[in-house]
Amino acid sequence: MTNLPALKSLLETPQTVVIVTHFKPDADALGSSLGLAGFLVKKGHQVSVISPSDYPDFLDWMPGKEMVTALSKESKRGEKKAAELIEKATLIFCLDFSSLKRINEVGPMVEKSLAVKVMIDHHLEPEDFAVFKKWKVSAASTAQLIFELIEELGENEFIDEKIANCLYAGLMTDTGGFRHNNTTHKEFEVAAELVSRGANPSEVAKQIYDTNSLVRLRLTGYALSEKLVVLPEFRTAYMMLSQQELRKFGSQTGDTEGLVNYGLSIKGIKMAVLMYDRGEEIKLSFRSLADFDVNALARKHFEGGGHKNASGGQSKLSLDDTLKKFLSILPEYKNKLNQD
Ligand code: 5GP
Ligand code: MN
Repeated sequence: MTNLPALKSLLETPQTVVIVTHFKPDADALGSSLGLAGFLVKKGHQVSVISPSDYPDFLDWMPGKEMVTALSKESKRGEKKAAELIEKATLIFCLDFSSLKRINEVGPMVEKSLAVKVMIDHHLEPEDFAVFKKWKVSAASTAQLIFELIEELGENEFIDEKIANCLYAGLMTDTGGFRHNNTTHKEFEVAAELVSRGANPSEVAKQIYDTNSLVRLRLTGYALSEKLVVLPEFRTAYMMLSQQELRKFGSQTGDTEGLVNYGLSIKGIKMAVLMYDRGEEIKLSFRSLADFDVNALARKHFEGGGHKNASGGQSKLSLDDTLKKFLSILPEYKNKLNQD
């Protein structure tokens, strides 16, 4: 953390804290937010968490979720409450994102706020909007950066079972269940510490991976059998889902999460892509192996970003035109995709 002593002394007096995480939060976004929130509440601060959108049902077990104000398309209530919370805040933590575009309507509120801002993140190419920064691309998850911060503050003893479970969830999912190439001894060390402080690996894994609805599983089956396209000359696999298809399967927020990884599990595939119609725009998810940099691709062509091997973006074109655009840029990457 940049200037840790100054942040530490700020945290010695009770603050009105707002923690903001990114649009459509995943387990790392919500887990790191609720882990930090749990810690700050124990330290005597007043804490709220803002999510710029709803979050998946498989995160609904997280302790502290009553602290979350989630914005929604349907109701303006969340937006009003978020604006009020941000206006009163003395300290704003921005977790698991480092570009204000990632928090949609909440971005301008945070930007104009006079509160002290802290950014804690592990994504590439951060913006410079915070006074305090803990930014580490080599960290697999933001959750472990929260653990590290608490450790740097010398306050590990505040980490209880609830906080540990939230942080463990972020670490587990952003490493793909400790399988991705961002999993080093450091991630296992933090995981071990969290388990020793009460995190329950099998319970967290069950809550996140094994609480599918039947319709979600059917959507996965449909996508795999009907929608998965392989382009051997580009070592690429993609899937595309229309709003109509998603509706047919009663798709909820989070139902498409993880789907993109199936493409990458095919032998010889270097890049996998999922494109689906979110209504207001087309959302794209990219995954890659080894040196193929999907962050650069998402940033250059789809107003996105993320990590070298996992990134996302969006397109305002129609679904079909988004696919055309994607197919048209592939030749640019053909050599890199075929390097080994
Ligand atoms: P996912 O495909 O699971 O939504 O996201 C993969 C990674 O890319 C995550 O780390 C996520 O935070 C990041 N990401 C997803 N969408 C966007 C986007 O539109 N812009 C940026 N900068 N990052 C994104
Ligand atoms: Mn993350």
